[in-house]
Amino acid sequence: MSRFRCVPMDTESARRFRVTRRDVRGGPVHPRIVDGPGFPCRHCLRLGLPGEEMLLASWDLPLPQGPYWTPSPIFLHARDCAAAVPAAALPETVTANPIVSLRHYDAAGMCLYDLGLVLPGAEAEAPLRERLADLRVAFVNIHTARPGCWLARVERG
Ligand SMILES: [Zn+2]
Repeated sequence: MSRFRCVPMDTESARRFRVTRRDVRGGPVHPRIVDGPGFPCRHCLRLGLPGEEMLLASWDLPLPQGPYWTPSPIFLHARDCAAAVPAAALPETVTANPIVSLRHYDAAGMCLYDLGLVLPGAEAEAPLRERLADLRVAFVNIHTARPGCWLARVERG
């Protein structure tokens, strides 16, 4: 079983969305009020609580670079929230999700198709640890499996 750490969106990106209300291509950030499940903040890696204001934005993922690079829709608390401390446990934004996708990449940012997996977020940790034992894996991006939104990055740690 491999050690890992779960990494959130960087604080500078979160601050930029809150201050400018624009993404890096000039697109607007959309305010939303939490009215049910499905509002995972990518900075504190906590779920938005009913009545909280969230921002819906397009974030240019820092990794992978290269052909598999992609932007992702993300939610973020509209208020300042503390960045999640990279931790060796999957956050509630992953474990509460009914179906997530694990996308594994090598150090060059190439997707390791043979390791890809779709499963309930609550069941993701053990297979994730097993796959991190594969030395080809440099990091894993966890996405929601249906809309494909990025949730968190996992690194060996
Ligand atoms: Zn937050």
